[in-house]
Amino acid sequence: MPPILLDGKSTAEAIRHEIQLEVTEFQQQTGVVPTLAAVLVGEDPASQVYVRNKERACAAVGMRSRLIRLGKDTSTAQLLDLLSQLNQDQQIHGILVQLPVPAQIDAQRVLDAVDPAKDVDAFAPQNVGLLAQGRPRFLPCTPHGVAQILARYDLETCGKHVVVVGRSDIVGKPMALMLMQRDYGLGTRFANASVTVCHSQSRNLAELTRQADILIVAVGKPQFVGLDMVRPGTVVIDVGINRLGDRIVGDVDFAAVSPIAAAITPVPGGIGPLTIAMLLRNTLSAAKLQQGTTS
Ligand code: NAP
Repeated sequence: MPPILLDGKSTAEAIRHEIQLEVTEFQQQTGVVPTLAAVLVGEDPASQVYVRNKERACAAVGMRSRLIRLGKDTSTAQLLDLLSQLNQDQQIHGILVQLPVPAQIDAQRVLDAVDPAKDVDAFAPQNVGLLAQGRPRFLPCTPHGVAQILARYDLETCGKHVVVVGRSDIVGKPMALMLMQRDYGLGTRFANASVTVCHSQSRNLAELTRQADILIVAVGKPQFVGLDMVRPGTVVIDVGINRLGDRIVGDVDFAAVSPIAAAITPVPGGIGPLTIAMLLRNTLSAAKLQQGTTS
């Protein structure tokens, strides 16, 4: 049987449509337009594209965004000062600092300075702690995108062995934390997994990945996962986005693995489009929390 192609583009579109309806309803009830502040330091071309896409995505669902550009020589103190103003600004509901920031900036201090109630990337220690305790305020955007695609294709994780390759603070670690919970917000069928986390020091990686019912890969190496690492019938989620010559490819060798997978995400068009949709979801949730309406 051919694999189910997990279409991130259409899934993200459906989610954005739901958010748009909720934004309209929220605005009618409260008179408030959810607003995201994006802080961009320096001139990294990829970051400029990401921020522009986030601004457009906000506008498309009826939210506002405010882009604050700072020069490449900005100091940590200057950025902390700006964040303090944004934290206090009642017109701003969500704040994100586009990463990476230039080397002279203490990125950890900066991320720690975002008000946890406005921390729509869910990077603040308080939000990471709440997630670890199984009572998240915001779900981190990329792992939430993975969770949404699994749920919307009715691919249960309850009782399944999920192997996550990668343990970054942005993807692998929060992904594992979510899936091991009893319920992190999408219902018990999409939590309650037995989770194995692999990283660069894991021994016999292929042996571990071949045990997966669901394999989630966030390594950052083009086509790293080949046929030898995947058991037939596995659900394969490829988070990777890598440039290979003039092509964008994932961390999974799609041509080799897809014939034996039960379901698989393409790259591009898989998890990528979902990440921004989940950022919009968090911005709306932040606005609702700050207005004291339901989250
Ligand atoms: P990262 O911070 O570089 O983390 C990579 C992880 O992979 C690390 O935990 C690392 O292990 C592990 N790793 C590296 N080499 C390995 C190996 N040979 N065997 C096993 N594990 C290995 O990357 P990231 O931020 O998580 O991103 C991963 C990929 O996802 C990238 O391609 C990125 O572009 C993509 N991404 C996509 C989205 C999206 O919206 N779709 C969002 C974020 C990231 P150690 O911890 O031991 O170093």
